[in-house]
Amino acid sequence: MNRNLHIYNTLSRKKEAFEPVNPPLVGMYVCGPTVYSDIHLGNCRTFISFDLIYRYLLHLGYKVRYVRNITDAGHLEGDRDEGDDKFAKKAKLEQLEPMEIVQKYTLGFHNVMTTFNTLSPSIEPTATGHVSEQIEMIKEIIANGYAYENNGTVYFDVEKYNTDYAYGQLTNRKMEDLLEGTRELSGQEEKKGRLDFALWISAKPETLMKWPSPWGWGFPGWHIECSAMSTKYLGETFDIHGGGMDLQATHHTNEIAQSQACNSTAPVKYWMHTNMLTVNGTRMSKSAGNGFLPEELFTGSHPLLKRGYSPMVVKFFMAQSHYRSTLDFSNDALQAAEKGFNKLMKAGETLNKLKAGSQSAINIEEIRSNCYKAMNDDFNSPILISHLFEAVRIINLINDGKESINQNDLENLKSLYKTFVLDVLGLQEDKSSGSKETELTGELIDLVLNLRLEAKKNKDFATSDNIRDELTKKGVIIKDTKDGFEWEIES
Ligand code: AMP
Ligand code: ZN
Repeated sequence: MNRNLHIYNTLSRKKEAFEPVNPPLVGMYVCGPTVYSDIHLGNCRTFISFDLIYRYLLHLGYKVRYVRNITDAGHLEGDRDEGDDKFAKKAKLEQLEPMEIVQKYTLGFHNVMTTFNTLSPSIEPTATGHVSEQIEMIKEIIANGYAYENNGTVYFDVEKYNTDYAYGQLTNRKMEDLLEGTRELSGQEEKKGRLDFALWISAKPETLMKWPSPWGWGFPGWHIECSAMSTKYLGETFDIHGGGMDLQATHHTNEIAQSQACNSTAPVKYWMHTNMLTVNGTRMSKSAGNGFLPEELFTGSHPLLKRGYSPMVVKFFMAQSHYRSTLDFSNDALQAAEKGFNKLMKAGETLNKLKAGSQSAINIEEIRSNCYKAMNDDFNSPILISHLFEAVRIINLINDGKESINQNDLENLKSLYKTFVLDVLGLQEDKSSGSKETELTGELIDLVLNLRLEAKKNKDFATSDNIRDELTKKGVIIKDTKDGFEWEIES
């Protein structure tokens, strides 16, 4: 195993050697979904990327405490602490309790994550379950002089903070530039500075989700939940904090400010951000209306899709691009991914059937070392996949009798495949291909091909050729082998 991991840190804007605060423990916090509606495929990309990161850290032998929160309160429609609460609005619309909305979409989120074969985080705390921690943190920030209360709402004093620390450091922007991009205060607003943001928001009489606090009934601002929950479960300084790139400028910038103002120390060693999934170049988002639901992709029911793709194909499609690159969604790209995925899975099956010979002209160690090199270079999954295809090429050569492999190398090749394809990339046989109908189709093809084998044995070549031609027409690719036959369905 090679632990020479380097991670690109958004904060320093360069790749850094990974040195955890308390090895072998690693604390990782990822901003989770806002559960007032279904998650779309863009959200999935971020969570699947962090699943790969989590899996690789585990593989390297780290003991990872992976915290991914559920935002189930305090999310207003405007990002300037204004507008309706999204949960309350949806609850009214669907005539449900806000917590029924939360339950419905949390379950939906978990189902999608299971479908993609992602590992569960170690802790999945909710904002509503940690209101008292958020209140305590706000009290501390006020006591330290970085927040003020006005009419039951508490604001973070960005200007004051910026005199002691650098407010926009995560996106490398100065206060003046940030101010330029914000509109003037209307004069009726209760905050002092244009960049000030709410830590606690005073409830209106009609507010559905509200809690008592030293400042009256209200609810927490969005950013404070992540500061409070990450501090509670991972400590004042922890290793990795992640989320989508769209969270850098506001949510994570404010999180750093809150945690620093409360705990007087920088909260995170490595900030990691995933790039966006786009559709025809436009970021996939709920508000842009171009958010594919995972289900629409699996069934092919979305109007932009020619047909459906299985969850594992979609996961493979995502792993084929680096988490810091944008990934554009298209039918062609998915089709290509499907071919690649099937080839990789098929090679796994072939590998299990390979027989060892007496000698080997294959350098498995070189492929293994290249796989580690790729993953150690900021989790470079596309490069990893290219090395795995080198292993696939070798597997097929051995299967075709053009190469041989000794027992030791065969075991190493199997372990390499298991490590990187199954454990690190988290790929598995498609569940959909295990459905009753598909299973039956497979059994029927086997049956027909056995009849063909029988016909050949009886020198009934007309029947044997007829079966082959008819199956080929239907897209079944048949390969005659020493022991009988192999087949696959054309993709
Ligand atoms: P939300 O539920 O909107 O809070 O988003 C959950 C996570 O998905 C956050 O980490 C976002 O940054 C991320 N996200 C949102 N849109 C996209 C997208 N198009 N591509 C990748 N990640 C996204
Ligand atoms: Zn967050």
